[in-house]
Parts: sequence; structure tokens; C-alpha cells
Amino acid sequence: MTNSPIDVCVQGAGAVGAALALALSRRGFWVALSNPVAAPTGPDVRAYALSAASVALLTELKVWDALPLDARTPVQEMRVAGDRGGALQFSAWEQCVSQLAWIVDAAELDRCLADALRYAPHVQRVDAPVDAPLQAICEGKQSASRERLGVRYERQRYGHSAVAARLTATQPHAGVAWQWFRSPDVLALLPFDRPEPGCSYGLVWSMPEADAKTWLAAPQADFEDALQAAIGEAGARIGTLQLASERFAWPLFTAQAEPWCGEGWALLGDAAHAVHPLAGQGLNLGLGDVITLARLLAEQRQATPWRSPGDARLLRRYARERSLAATAMNGVGDGLWQLFSRPQAPLAELRNRGLSLVNQLGPVKRWLAQQAFHA
Ligand SMILES: Cc1cc2nc3c(=O)[nH]c(=O)nc-3n(C[C@H](O)[C@H](O)[C@H](O)COP(=O)(O)OP(=O)(O)OC[C@H]3O[C@@H](n4cnc5c(N)ncnc54)[C@H](O)[C@@H]3O)c2cc1C
Repeated sequence: MTNSPIDVCVQGAGAVGAALALALSRRGFWVALSNPVAAPTGPDVRAYALSAASVALLTELKVWDALPLDARTPVQEMRVAGDRGGALQFSAWEQCVSQLAWIVDAAELDRCLADALRYAPHVQRVDAPVDAPLQAICEGKQSASRERLGVRYERQRYGHSAVAARLTATQPHAGVAWQWFRSPDVLALLPFDRPEPGCSYGLVWSMPEADAKTWLAAPQADFEDALQAAIGEAGARIGTLQLASERFAWPLFTAQAEPWCGEGWALLGDAAHAVHPLAGQGLNLGLGDVITLARLLAEQRQATPWRSPGDARLLRRYARERSLAATAMNGVGDGLWQLFSRPQAPLAELRNRGLSLVNQLGPVKRWLAQQAFHA
């Protein structure tokens, strides 16, 4: 690292901050990456569903190919079931793609991003933010810098938590992802290859907070019985499920920052938007923020090199583009949640028929798949 002046100070080295630092470094910007030493937490049991656009960015950053093969599993098929027989199914074959999405080990992704940062020529790790024309705030949901800037970030709480864990199954997953809208809980099994190659799943089970507390504390055998009962007839295909990790829970809420940027600063990732994990899109959105901001900064540097990376007009363009994407995604996740969180009978019939109807409508289904798997 030379003594070149820093162009961008990235605050927060989660997946979004790390990816931004790498993307800017590749475009010739000088970056300081600040992250406090975090208190040790338990293992990260999350398995992310990543879209084609996220995978393309990670490939460009030389992170994707560094992931061990058993830390990234392609999804060939997705089966969604309602609580009264409604069903919706996507397949890679039907969508004419090699895979619908990839399921990626969260801890391994962080490790590969950190490795790539070690070799990034323009990135300097610092203990505290440094002066720079642009402060890119990627501090996650609890961002203190966002609070200091007086940005509003109103949380809409669902009263639900997402319980996550790793599972093994007695039958091969065959690349199938499952999701059950059971009203009020939503259960997702993401095909995975750790710890058992070909026979593991990442679990995300969203349920009322009180239930989540109970199931976190419940004996392993009781939890596994409840899970097996919840997947019902699909158990014949999936086999017997067993816990293969500790269980962790995350409280669920949605939020969007207002404003997203100002002269010399911008928010990215969960610091700017929180979405319901049933859509599996929080990190995809954050990596989308990285793609857009890096592109706009590079275009500006080429066209008008005298302009500052903290130029308010440029940052407003970034915010306009990305807040639209975040609002749309929030609409989908929140809409599904509102529809399926109420057990009332007439609504139950309608939403289940709706699912099955979408399954038969080619163009609507293709549009949905485009939003969910490619963006
Ligand atoms: C159960 C669950 C399942 C999920 N599944 C998916 C999925 O399938 N697909 C998907 O796309 N998304 C998914 N998500 C969402 C995804 O986890 C988040 O959107 C993503 O991790 C956000 O990344 P981030 O870098 O913005 O924030 P974070 O990961 O929270 O990182 C923020 C970083 O900033 C640091 N920091 C905090 N304060 C400061 C400070 N003052 N100064 C400097 N640094 C600071 C923190 O230490 C941390 O390193 C899931 C989430 C959950 C809870």
C-alpha cells in the first residue's frame, strides 16, 4: 500500500463491505476498510441462497472459485407448498438455466472474502474510519454511523423469529429446495453438501417469537420430531431429518433507511434495508448495492474525473436505483408474509388457489423466477 489518498472509506467488513472494498479496488480506487474487533459469537449456521447476479459479482472478485465445492450447492428445483394444498414449482430445466440459485455456506463466504482482501492491492485495513471523500456505510442492521447521521430506519416487526440450523437427511437432496407456507410459520429447507455431501440442508424456520424460544431450548429429539411432522408427506422424498448443528434465532423485521445518502456518505446492505428472510434476498440486495455503486463511481471517474466520489448527485442516482429494488423485494416478502400469516379460512383457500394458479401461468411464473433467482 502506498501513501495514496483514500478515495472511499468502507465502514463494516461483513459480506457487503468486503465485496465493496474488493470491487472498488479492482476499479482502481484506494479504499480504507474499517471494522471493529467483533466479540466472538457462535458458528454461523446460515446457508445463503444466492442469485446469478451475486454469483457473477463474486466470480469477478475471485471469491467464487475459491469457495470449496461442498460450500456451494446448485439448486435444480424449488417446491413451494401452501397450507391447503396449493403448490408452486420451479425447475432449472423449465427456466432454461443451469441452476436456479446457489446455496452457499455463510461462514465460508466470509472467510474467502477476507482471504481475497489480503491480496487486494488498494485496500488498507484500519481500526477506525479515516477521512475520505466518500464514507460507504455497510455496518448491518444495527449501524451506529447511520444513527449518528440521524437517518430514519423504522422497523416493522413481525413478532416472528427465524430459527436456522444445519440438518442431515437419510435421502439425497437432489438439488431440491423446499418451502412450506404453513400459516403462521414458514419453513424452508435449502439443499446443501455439508456436513454430509448430497444429503444435508440449511434450515430456516420462521415462527412466532415465543415458539422460537421454545424450540431453541427443546431437546434435540423433540425438535427433530416437530420438524419431521412439519414437512409431512414430503418426508417420503426427503427422508428422516437430523440436526447437525446448534440452533440459532434471528428476530424478523423489515426496514428501509431514509435518506440512503448525503454529500460524502451512502448506506449499503442491511444498513440501508432489511427484508424478510423468507424471500432469501437480503445479501443479494446488498451485493446489488455494491454492483450499482461501483459501476456509478467507475463511470464518473472515467467521464468526469474531477468530480468527488462523494458527489451528492451521483449518490442520489445510486440511492434511487437501489431503493426501488429494495422496495420491490420488501413488497414481495411482506406481501407473502401478510397473506400466509393469517390462518382464516376464506383467505387460506384463496392464497392456496393463487399459488397453484401461478404454477400454471407460464409468463407470471417466469417473471417471478426472474425476480427471485436472477436479480
Ligand atoms: C436466518 C437468515 C437467513 C438468511 N438467508 C439469506 C439468503 O438465503 N439469501 C440472502 O441473500 N440473504 C439472506 N439473509 C440476509 C443476509 O444475512 C444479510 O442481508 C447480510 O448478511 C447483510 O450483510 P451486511 O454486510 O450488510 O451486514 P452484516 O453481515 O451485519 O455485516 C455488518 C458488518 O459491519 C460491522 N460493523 C458494525 N458496526 C460497525 C461500526 N460502527 N464500524 C465498523 N464496522 C461495523 C459488523 O461487525 C459486521 O462485520 C439471511 C439472514 C438471516 C438472519
